[in-house]
Amino acid sequence: MSLYRDTGVVLRVQKLGEADRIITLITQKHGKVRAVAKGVRRTTSRLGARVEPFAHVDVQFYTGRTLDVITQVQTLDAFGAGIVNDYQRYTAACVVLETADRMSAEEGEPVFRLYLLVAGALRALADGQRDASLVLDAFLLRAMAFAGWSPAITECARCGDPGPHRAFSVHAGGSVCPKCKPPGSASPPFEVLSLMDALATGVWDIAERSTESSRREASGLVAALLQWHLERQLRSLPLVERRRVEERTPARESP
Ligand SMILES: [Zn+2]
Repeated sequence: MSLYRDTGVVLRVQKLGEADRIITLITQKHGKVRAVAKGVRRTTSRLGARVEPFAHVDVQFYTGRTLDVITQVQTLDAFGAGIVNDYQRYTAACVVLETADRMSAEEGEPVFRLYLLVAGALRALADGQRDASLVLDAFLLRAMAFAGWSPAITECARCGDPGPHRAFSVHAGGSVCPKCKPPGSASPPFEVLSLMDALATGVWDIAERSTESSRREASGLVAALLQWHLERQLRSLPLVERRRVEERTPARESP
């Protein structure tokens, strides 16, 4: 049997049979990994508590015929503890996990940068120092940059003419100059674009000085851009404000 070890964040857990779970992780070296954790639904399992969503873990796997099997887990950061009791942080963290899951479609494809972004966003949400929606939007903008979907913010998305430009089109890929502006473009205040630029580049003092209305408008544009790129709406994104705090139950795939 061949063993390997990696560090990752638990994105999702699904029931498998009577006592087992399939754990989906985004890892440092092996991209997205789906692996079986055996016996974790028994109350006596020590492994079970360590492989819950939001956990940052060091894992040993052995290569199975269909799915790999988790043999050892060490907790690096139990981010869940600082997240699950705060409604806003919890819903933001769920969007982080789901976006990472959607963006790392291919299992085994290396996604080191995305793994770092996920761990960083969960750390910031668990730590509670920064506003949860700013942390989420910064994550989404950087995750889009990882996927090659960075919106144009400081120049025209079509001709590259330096801005800032008044018009913004999700379909065109961001800011657009008066010449390139497609019909139906939005016209966010410059403050909204400067907030998006600050979040994408990590200039937190500018981001934290932004007004509530700029934050709302920037969140709307970020969500629209992400949805455009993911082609279909993320399940959890429209629910950020109103989702009940409940165990994140996997629904998309069955074992
Ligand atoms: Zn242009």
